[in-house]
Amino acid sequence: MDEKTMEKISGCRVFDTTSPFKKHVPSKLEIDFEKSVCEDTKLMENTTRVENAERIEDVMMYDGFEIQNSINTTISQDCLSQNNLHVIFTNKLICTYDNMDHRYHGRTVICSNPAIISTTGMIEAPAKSREYYLEAMKCKMQGLDIKSVKKNHSGKFLDYHDQRLSKIAEGYLLQAIFYYITGDAFCDSLDCRLNNAHWQKDLIYSQIKISKLCKKHQKILDDL
Ligand SMILES: [Zn+2]
Repeated sequence: MDEKTMEKISGCRVFDTTSPFKKHVPSKLEIDFEKSVCEDTKLMENTTRVENAERIEDVMMYDGFEIQNSINTTISQDCLSQNNLHVIFTNKLICTYDNMDHRYHGRTVICSNPAIISTTGMIEAPAKSREYYLEAMKCKMQGLDIKSVKKNHSGKFLDYHDQRLSKIAEGYLLQAIFYYITGDAFCDSLDCRLNNAHWQKDLIYSQIKISKLCKKHQKILDDL
């Protein structure tokens, strides 16, 4: 990735989750950070995680559509017109602004070409159970670590370095491919890997327990 694109991506950061995207002019420090992350994506893990953030703005978030535009300009029109689907996997937390409730929401997949799939999004975007949030909130109010709460709910949601992430990523890749082929990425059925999960439990159920397409979507694939 060239320096100009890295600078553009740094400018895609979101600092106010309650307003539509405002172009950010990155500082030299921010551009340098972007360059370092490009060379070693693990550095992203040193940034503030959602569960540790005092304010959500402390988490590094990027506008998904802006990133998509920035990367789109690096792909030659020839390549895009030759029926090649480009899929970008990233550990950046991507989000998109929702005009209905006037706020940004974390996203796991931005379907289109190029499609973007965020591994951090898999962990942070679909919600954990209400019980988990209540217990975590209680712990935080008492100034306690949430490790014990995470242990109590262990396995019920995806966490960083979770071994299930690669299997989950396959499902989101299928969604990006279906969108590219049919213009429709998602399925209402929980028994299908195209289910657009809003809850961690549904995501784990569709991708790990069921781990296949529903009959309708399997047929679309078979008929290709
Ligand atoms: Zn389906």
